[in-house]
Amino acid sequence: MRKEARKGGLPHPRATDVQKQVITAAKKTAERAWLASVGVDPLIQSLRDLDTAYRNFFDSVSGKRQGRKVGLPRFKSKRDTRQSLRFTRNGFRIRGNGKLNLAKIGDVRVKWSRALPAEPTSVTVVLESSGRYYASFVVDVEPEILPRLDAEVGIDLGLTTYAVLSDGSVIDNPRFLRKAEKKLKAVQRELSRKAKGSKNRAKASRKVAKAHAKVADTRMDWLHKKTTSIIRETQAVYLEDLNVRGLSRGRLAKSVHDAGWSTFRRLLEEKAARYGRTVGIVNRAFPSSQLCSECGHRDGPKPLAIREWACTACGVVHDRDLNAARNILAAGQADRLNAPGGPVRPGVAIPLQAQPDERGTRLSDLTGTGGRTAGAGGAPALQGGVDVNLCPPCHGPCGGSRRCPWRR
Ligand SMILES: [Zn+2]
Repeated sequence: MRKEARKGGLPHPRATDVQKQVITAAKKTAERAWLASVGVDPLIQSLRDLDTAYRNFFDSVSGKRQGRKVGLPRFKSKRDTRQSLRFTRNGFRIRGNGKLNLAKIGDVRVKWSRALPAEPTSVTVVLESSGRYYASFVVDVEPEILPRLDAEVGIDLGLTTYAVLSDGSVIDNPRFLRKAEKKLKAVQRELSRKAKGSKNRAKASRKVAKAHAKVADTRMDWLHKKTTSIIRETQAVYLEDLNVRGLSRGRLAKSVHDAGWSTFRRLLEEKAARYGRTVGIVNRAFPSSQLCSECGHRDGPKPLAIREWACTACGVVHDRDLNAARNILAAGQADRLNAPGGPVRPGVAIPLQAQPDERGTRLSDLTGTGGRTAGAGGAPALQGGVDVNLCPPCHGPCGGSRRCPWRR
C-alpha cells in the first residue's frame, strides 16, 4: 500500500488505514483467511515494526537520524533465518505452573533461564535457523546504582590478547570461532554432499546452524561475564573507538568478527547505564600506541610486530598494549573533564566527532583502513615527519588548529 502510494505521489497512508485493509479486510478474503489463525496482536505488532522501519528510513533521509543510512523496509520471507512474533499485554500470560500461554497457540512449555524481575510488558517468540525457539520478555527494571569506586581503567583491545587493562591485567583472546572451525568444516562438508531440496539437506543445514549457534552462545556468555566483572570492579571504563565495520572487511575479518568488539562495547555501555558507571570512548585518531605513558613523548608509529619499546625521551621500556591502555585511560579522563557541560553523567558515552583514522599503528596498519598503510620504517604520522604537538582538546594530530571540531 505504501509503495503504491509513493509511486502514485499520494500521501503516506495512515497506520490505522493500513491496519484496516491488511488485517481486518484481508482476513475476509479467501487468500488471506489464514491470517485469522494467528491472533490479532502479532499482526498489529508487525505493522508497528513496519511503521518504525519507515520512520527510521524517513529520519535517515532527512538527516534527523545519525549514523549509517537506513534503507526502505523489505518484505519478510518464510525462508528468513530468524522468524519471530510478538505478543503484548493481552496476548500472553504466564501460568502458575510455569507455562507460557500465547493467544491462539495455547500453553507452551518453557525452560526458564531466570526468574522475571518484574511483570513483562511484551514477549517475542523467536525461531532460529538452528530450530531453537526462545521467548524474550520486555521488562522494566530500575537501575541498580552500585556503590561508587575510585578505580578507573583504560582498555586496549587487540587480537593477540583480547584486551589489556591499564591496571596490568590481561584478558586472553578465546577465539571461539577458530577453535570450532574443525567441527564447522565437517558439518559444512556434510551439507554440501546432500542433494538440493532433499530432506537430508534440510537436516544437515540445521546441523550447520546449530554448530554456529553454539559458537555464538559461548561467545555471548563469555562477553557477558567479562563485561559484568569489569563494570562491577571499576567506576569508569575508557575504550578506543575502533572502526569495526572497516576492519571486518579486511584480511582479519574472521578474527575481528570472532572477537565481537562491538558487542563488548555495547554490553559495557548497557551495564554502565544500569549500574551507574561510566563508559568513555576515546577518539580513533588518538595515537594510543605512539605516546609514552610515562613522559608524554610521542615516539612515532610502531608496526604491530613490535611488542615492547623503549621511549627515546625518558628511556622507560613499555609493553605495547599496556602502554596503550594507560594512554587511553589518561585521554578518556581528560575528555571527560573537557566534555561540553562538564563531566558526563554515568552511563553516557562521550559523543564522538568525525575524525581521520590513526595511521601506521595497531590494527589499521594490517588492514589498510585509515588510508595509506605504514611503510617498512613506519610512515610519518604527520606531514614531513614533523612532530606537531598534539591538540589538547582532541588529542588528535590537528595541532590545535581552528579546524579542530573540539574547539569552541
Ligand atoms: Zn617517555
